[in-house]
Amino acid sequence: MIRPGKTIGMLGGGQLGRMTGQAARELGYGFAVFEPSPNCPAGQVADLEVNASYSDEGALRHFAENVDVISYEFENVAVDALRKLEAYAPIFPKPDVLHICQHREREKLFLDSKAYPLAPFAVVDSVESLQAGIERIGTPCVLKTASFGYDGKGQRKISSPVDDYDKLWQEFGADRAVLEGWMDFDMEISVIAAHGANGQTAAFPVAENIHTDHILDLSIVPARISPQLEHQAVELASSVARDLDVTGLLAVEMFVAKDGALVINEMAPRPHNSGHYTMDACVTSQFEQFVRAFTGLPLGSTELLKPVVMLNLLGDIWQNGEPAFEEALSNSGAKLHLYGKADARPARKMGHINCLADSNAEALSTAKRLKRFFL
Ligand code: AMP
Repeated sequence: MIRPGKTIGMLGGGQLGRMTGQAARELGYGFAVFEPSPNCPAGQVADLEVNASYSDEGALRHFAENVDVISYEFENVAVDALRKLEAYAPIFPKPDVLHICQHREREKLFLDSKAYPLAPFAVVDSVESLQAGIERIGTPCVLKTASFGYDGKGQRKISSPVDDYDKLWQEFGADRAVLEGWMDFDMEISVIAAHGANGQTAAFPVAENIHTDHILDLSIVPARISPQLEHQAVELASSVARDLDVTGLLAVEMFVAKDGALVINEMAPRPHNSGHYTMDACVTSQFEQFVRAFTGLPLGSTELLKPVVMLNLLGDIWQNGEPAFEEALSNSGAKLHLYGKADARPARKMGHINCLADSNAEALSTAKRLKRFFL
């Protein structure tokens, strides 16, 4: 067990690192951040901020020598570099978990090997395999890069039969990709499951997620699904977290298909945007749970205290200067969280508001009203 008083090192200095650092501090830990760009959101709440490239092995070693345990909020860290750091401080989730989750092809093959429900898919690494995949799966389908994809980046939907496979593969411009059947779903949901160093598992309530332009816009909790489906989703995410042997958190995004079946879309071994609601609505936040899980502390209660809707705040609403947050702050159930980012670019995640109410319908109407107010 890594006890309070020790120092947690975080690779990645974005908002997930920042909120993990805030939770770590509340539990009495020191906090250090490794991030290429200075004055990052997590660096602002850290005791130590190392600014260097993820390929700078000397800087990574210096960082690792100054902390007692390492985790990451950024998935594109080279796994080989991580493995070298294990000589200086334990790393959770284990680099093997990152190796699977940072690569869409390995992630799909892992889930498929354990018979988890997935959309039909094919691994594509050539024009021939692209053609064979599209002929088997049919259109519409979606081609996704194997690495470095997030929020719909590196994806191309293929809506109608293809005439020129060469052109399509060349335009896509990746070496490896995963082709997936397009799901006609009723709803997108996610579950964040914690799996502790002590073997304990605990999952948060299901979030119903609404995306706009591929970016999470709203998370509604409780999700508007049956108790049976809620139970199934929680079991599914907890089971994957155990199978992967994650020490930390596993966020699992799923589709609820038209026939009511659950299909896993993707997963991430870290806190997740769709779990920000837990900060104000649950006994334990996802960030505190993350820290508890990888330090070996007992996991906290995931009980939902109040219905909630999380509204993401993107840089777009900063285009005419700082938004007027008074409107949000004067609502007794609304909790504002800003990430300390100086540069408010469109589509950049700048903060979020958790709207708490007596029902999720009421919370949703508050979130929609605030959203209209900002736009
Ligand atoms: P991803 O980056 O894989 O999470 O995809 C971003 C968003 O694209 C998802 O949240 C869905 O709204 C949509 N999407 C991705 N894959 C599929 C699919 N196979 N079928 C339908 N929609 C999808």
